[in-house]
Amino acid sequence: MQKNRGSGRTLSSNARGPGGMRGGIPPQIVTHETSRALMERACRVIPGGVNSPVRAYKAVGGQPLFIAAARGARVLDADLREHVDFVGSWGPMILGHGSPVVLEAIHAQLARGTSYGAPTELEVELAELMARALPSIELVRLVSSGTEACMSALRVARAFTKRDAIVKFEGHYHGHADSLLVKAGSGAATFGHPSSPGVPGDLAKHTLVARWNDLADVKRCLDSAPVAAVILEPFPGNMGVVPPEKGFLEGFRSLTKKKGALLIYDEVMTGFRVAWEGAQGLQKIEPDLTCLGKVVGGGLPLAAFGGRRDVMSLLAPLGPCYQAGTLSGNPVAVAAGLAQLRELERRGPAAYAELEERGAQLERALVETAKAKKVPLRVQRQGSMLTPFFLEARVRSWDDAAKADTKRFAVFFQAMLEKRVVLPPSQFEAWSISLAHTRSDIELARDAAAFAFEKCAKA
Ligand SMILES: *Cc1c(COP(=O)(O)O)cnc(C)c1O
Repeated sequence: MQKNRGSGRTLSSNARGPGGMRGGIPPQIVTHETSRALMERACRVIPGGVNSPVRAYKAVGGQPLFIAAARGARVLDADLREHVDFVGSWGPMILGHGSPVVLEAIHAQLARGTSYGAPTELEVELAELMARALPSIELVRLVSSGTEACMSALRVARAFTKRDAIVKFEGHYHGHADSLLVKAGSGAATFGHPSSPGVPGDLAKHTLVARWNDLADVKRCLDSAPVAAVILEPFPGNMGVVPPEKGFLEGFRSLTKKKGALLIYDEVMTGFRVAWEGAQGLQKIEPDLTCLGKVVGGGLPLAAFGGRRDVMSLLAPLGPCYQAGTLSGNPVAVAAGLAQLRELERRGPAAYAELEERGAQLERALVETAKAKKVPLRVQRQGSMLTPFFLEARVRSWDDAAKADTKRFAVFFQAMLEKRVVLPPSQFEAWSISLAHTRSDIELARDAAAFAFEKCAKA
């Protein structure tokens, strides 16, 4: 390993564009030799070469870029080429990569130690901040991943209601805990079936799957069994961005109340991204429990679940419902998360206005360039989360999303990469815009998109 590859110093921070910055390499010649060699090595010892399947380029072809460094809105690949980044580590990097406030907080904590297995003041401050931002949170517990947060929220909901069944929505992702890896196809009857081998059918049968934006289907699920909780992504991003339609959420908040089922807002992606007060603040809905992750960890492994005092009080050591973690509330992760959230709090509504403006600018750029090249495209967006679906009609559910032209997306993706713009390598993901994305970053993406849609039109 060359030492300087790990350092961010080789990254330029100006916004002139990645092409032409690396001294003489014409941007149109794409050679990812180092990434390819690393992938070969990786595949010998890591399943599929990646530690999370979404990082593989299976849906778009080619090899994933290995990243050597990142700063602001840019990532440097292993061949030392700079790209504009719309992956943003899949959501956490809302201030951009290597934000000075976050790095300083990490450095300061490092000097004091990296893990104690005992409570710290920082954890209290982070919990207080979460409760301040999201009034539905009375008690909150820190964990290390969104998966853990959702899994634990379900457990405590089941303990509280003394019921086994849960309702989730098709196309929504809540991490990879057994009960939640159930997707169920269109013909799904009342009971789900596991969508991953390895999930016992006996467990999956307690997971009922409803269609997003379909109140009647939610009713059907709630009538079919005593339901402990309905879990949902309030602005789904894991099938691409598919916001709830007017009245949908309001409709079933009263329904869950009537049926005695808890409402779990999985805000792992939306929390502190769509607004300081989360999706629940924007939607004016008070869930019983909330899951947080991604942005709250400042780029380190940290997540949380919290909510009603009477429900959360069932957790050990207060109550009998067990949940634990050796590295839960890890001081380095908490320091990073707290620094990122404090910075967002300091910037206030202006930060979210800026994210909205950048998001709108990118949406316009994609819509206009696609139109100019006569490529059917539907851009769906919530603030700084955005998905361009390669189809014409509005996407309201997973069924609709599944109609997108994924082959076209793959052509688009590769062409964008050629122009040094990195996107999530799947049609069904949300792009993440950060406060480090400048107007000219978006203009650059616009030029790249014009080129990419041209290729799509010909493909
Ligand atoms: C990313 C995500 C998760 C899972 O979080 P991990 O930290 O990857 O385990 C859960 N729910 C939603 C909505 C997510 O976007």
